[in-house]
Amino acid sequence: MLQTTVIIVGAGPAGSVLAGLLAQRGVETLLLDKATFPREKICGDYLSPGTVRLLDQLNLLDLVCSAGVRRLWGMTIISPDGTTLTAEFPAITGTNGAPPFALSIPRAILDSLLLKWARSFGVRCIEGFRVTDLIWKNGRICGVTGIGQAGPETYQGRIVVGADGRESVVARRLNLHQPHPRLRRMALVAYYVGARCNVPLRDHGLICIGDRSYCILNPIGERLTNASIVVDQGIVQGWKGQLDELFNSALLAFPLALSALRGTGRHGTVRCLGPLAFRSIRSAKAGALLIGDAAGFYDPFTGEGVGHALYSAKLAAHAIASALAECDGGLTETHLHRFDDEQRRILISRRRLGAALQAIIRRPGAANAVTRLLRRRQPLANLLLGVIGDLLPPRTLFSAHTLMGILHPR
Ligand SMILES: Cc1cc2nc3c(=O)[nH]c(=O)nc-3n(C[C@H](O)[C@H](O)[C@H](O)COP(=O)(O)OP(=O)(O)OC[C@H]3O[C@@H](n4cnc5c(N)ncnc54)[C@H](O)[C@@H]3O)c2cc1C
Repeated sequence: MLQTTVIIVGAGPAGSVLAGLLAQRGVETLLLDKATFPREKICGDYLSPGTVRLLDQLNLLDLVCSAGVRRLWGMTIISPDGTTLTAEFPAITGTNGAPPFALSIPRAILDSLLLKWARSFGVRCIEGFRVTDLIWKNGRICGVTGIGQAGPETYQGRIVVGADGRESVVARRLNLHQPHPRLRRMALVAYYVGARCNVPLRDHGLICIGDRSYCILNPIGERLTNASIVVDQGIVQGWKGQLDELFNSALLAFPLALSALRGTGRHGTVRCLGPLAFRSIRSAKAGALLIGDAAGFYDPFTGEGVGHALYSAKLAAHAIASALAECDGGLTETHLHRFDDEQRRILISRRRLGAALQAIIRRPGAANAVTRLLRRRQPLANLLLGVIGDLLPPRTLFSAHTLMGILHPR
């Protein structure tokens, strides 16, 4: 049985970044992942400008950019009645007027890079190890059990962190995982190859809003495009085993996306995931922490899941490092509460923004009206994109200056 200080289950962006940050502070860390890297992850492959800023703060931006990423400067949004709105990410204070940008990068590349970065600080990662259960001692988690390439194994640690994504076994064993009671959406994701699809997209993502569904095209590199469609769960149920046909049929609802993809070929298979929304009742319990998706997920529309994964890794690194500096036993109730409160504050604000956007995009009439309004008020459209892209806090939208802009467009 191996003993270490911190065990992190899951080597996605949340787990790898936490492991790297702890190793930089001299904390012995063991990462465990059921996959072997590089591994695929169903995702839109988009890093919001807020995520880019966070990568920069973590000194990871140059590394990520070295992988041949594509910069995106804004989004083109098509409402159900075909109204087109193009918005740019707004420059924010402290950037000397430099326009912020988003990035697109396949997750197989991003996640491998982050893991390699963590390993460069001495983090040990065991790939192909599936955690199946937690070990308890005196009401606290003190390790994990699972199955690796050499068979069953147990690892003991003073602190255990669940960074194991949306199916988090750590959250489930702690009885914290809770599906969303109403929002039951599914995602279908496919890749298209061919230069043509990148031409109409240029350096913007394309968001097409349909009737209770939406489609996002994210140009990656010069020839590859990620196409993600989100639909209600009921639609997927009638198409069991026919994902290609379902994707083709769902794409018909978005003529502009269809025309952007015309003349290109599908690369690989269509992948499906959902229901998408769930939450963890708390993100800290019995001496263990949950970070990234393991702590909850709402909807991919805002494209800030990786940003949240990085932010919660930063938060957890701070909580763990302070706990270890203060006492030998691990995270006290005070540390757990502080971490939970801070992460909850972020998750609630994301969920509120997500719910407000869902309330608009699920009603074609509302989506048309809002797109038309924003077309007439370009600065407001850019501001909204800044909030969705996690560059600006949601309260910016309710400032007196913004409200005046809605009433009296320049
Ligand atoms: C359709 C869709 C599109 C999205 N598009 C975007 C986007 O464009 N931009 C964006 O920022 N976010 C997007 N997201 C969200 C984003 O993918 C997640 O928020 C992000 O991956 C969370 O990172 P993570 O490290 O918490 O989890 P993950 O990336 O899921 O990593 C979890 C890791 O844990 C491992 N693991 C799981 N269970 C176990 C176990 N029992 N034992 C050992 N290892 C285990 C897995 O193998 C995996 O490597 C999207 C999500 C969906 C569903």
